[in-house]
Amino acid sequence: MSTAHESDGALGDLIDPELPAATYVLEPDVVAPLVRRIVTSDDAGTHRSTLPFSGAPLVSFPLSSVADVEGAVRRARAAQPAWAALSLRERTVVLDRLGATVLRRQSEILDLIQMETGKSRRSAFEEVADVAQVTRHYAVRGRRYLADRRASGVFPVLTGVRVHRRPVGVVGAIAPWNYPLTLVLSEALPALVAGNAVVVKPDPQTTLCALWVAEALEESGLPEDLFSVVAGGGDVGAALVDQVDHIAFTGSTATGRKVAARAGERLIGATLELGGKNPLYVAADADLDTTVPGVVRACFSNSGQLCMSIERLVLHERIADEFLERFVEAVRGLELGSALDYTADVGSLVSADQLARVTEHVDDALAKGARALVGGVHRSDVGPFFYAPTVLDDVPADALCATQETFGPVVSVTRVASDAEAVRVMNATDMGLNASIWSVDVARARRLAAQVEAGTVVINDGYLSAWGSVAAPMGGFKASGQGRRHGREAIESVTEVQTVAVQRGARFGISVDSLYALGGETPSKVLTVAMDAMRRLRLR
Ligand code: NAD
Repeated sequence: MSTAHESDGALGDLIDPELPAATYVLEPDVVAPLVRRIVTSDDAGTHRSTLPFSGAPLVSFPLSSVADVEGAVRRARAAQPAWAALSLRERTVVLDRLGATVLRRQSEILDLIQMETGKSRRSAFEEVADVAQVTRHYAVRGRRYLADRRASGVFPVLTGVRVHRRPVGVVGAIAPWNYPLTLVLSEALPALVAGNAVVVKPDPQTTLCALWVAEALEESGLPEDLFSVVAGGGDVGAALVDQVDHIAFTGSTATGRKVAARAGERLIGATLELGGKNPLYVAADADLDTTVPGVVRACFSNSGQLCMSIERLVLHERIADEFLERFVEAVRGLELGSALDYTADVGSLVSADQLARVTEHVDDALAKGARALVGGVHRSDVGPFFYAPTVLDDVPADALCATQETFGPVVSVTRVASDAEAVRVMNATDMGLNASIWSVDVARARRLAAQVEAGTVVINDGYLSAWGSVAAPMGGFKASGQGRRHGREAIESVTEVQTVAVQRGARFGISVDSLYALGGETPSKVLTVAMDAMRRLRLR
């Protein structure tokens, strides 16, 4: 991988000139092997990221320019045909090794994830587990997903048709900060297995995790230039959309619309994994002993900064009071913390911006008449961006958190009198990413699921059963996205479908041309008889 720092190896380039190196949480020489992987030139500026747990400067690294993005894509384009020409087995071996590497070196990547995002170690481990699952899945199922398929030809026997999946070329992946390991790899792995090259633009706050992935892929045997990282914000992301053959975007709905518009102009494919305003319904028959801890996890994993996280609780009125009493007590007992170990239940928000957004949503709801059953406060005693897990009741319809994604540890409560009303409330949003239903009667929950407008509906769990089931597609209805990650669908989005049709009868004198050579009305008459016979014989 080529970078501007290869030649001189000067650490000075990696250090923010305004800050003494000693003030960084991560020593510059420790992160230098990662930071040198950024595709960058000398004049594109630097970015300083922050340790969310304390607000201290974490690391400073160079950014990529538009020309760097063009260079990364050019080199990826040059490397891709040789990769695609390898056997599928040779490509999947790399995935298998990567899965093993991530499991073996998990303490390193768990530390990095926690330090860049501020999340708890348990939330970070969900990323490690996800990558182990996804690598295994595509290593095993890649062959089936990419297999050629026969199709019936226009003339039975005389026309042989096969449908092939070809890699699109270079896939761009733009990722947010909330799952910096998972969201880079769940797009990159199906792309690589299908024979594409990948250029990734992570969020600036979580660039080190993407660079660690680049290092782990190289260690797993991925040839040079097939996975590269460009660093920067929206301008670098937009430059990537301008260069690649497919863009896999994960982020907010607002940015997703811009990416989709540009991809539309360029006529490239776009997979869009966007925001949610996810509901969770506790039916009258739910078993509260299992429901309460499950709902706590559904709402507060990664401090609610999870696209599938639950932000709207829909409670049947028969169990609402008892559920809330037990739920609020469990939420109050959640342990907040910043240690790089498994002691905390809930970590920090990622940044001052996220803290401001969460605070604005809660304060707005409270000012409009909502009540905080628990939480509703900034926990600066734990760290600068910590916010208490919060349950809001009586949230008015015009409150920000009633309709907009908060993307934080805040959930609001609505009571309903029937399943039908629950479905109406669940669907009363322009988002449709994830929904959850809790009931001991799974058949009834399945019937409700069929009426819910969401890309995943999880019964008796909040999100993990759908997210972790990587053979099944995951994505959004409505403004929550377009296309799907995971499973066969992810492979389909990064491949072109090519039909190869062979006319077999020509050397025996049977061909479209020999038919047309009969002249006049005769070919049409012959074809009419043939098609009528096929219809009667129910052929095709
Ligand atoms: P964001 O849209 O602000 O940024 C996402 C990424 O897009 C970042 O890397 C950013 O630098 C880049 N970007 C910004 N402007 C761009 C542009 N004009 N062109 C190209 N790239 C651009 O999102 P965020 O606030 O960082 O992330 C949180 C959002 O992501 C939430 O809405 C969350 O629900 C969503 N999300 C969705 C999923 C999913 O699978 N559906 C998963 C995780 C997060």
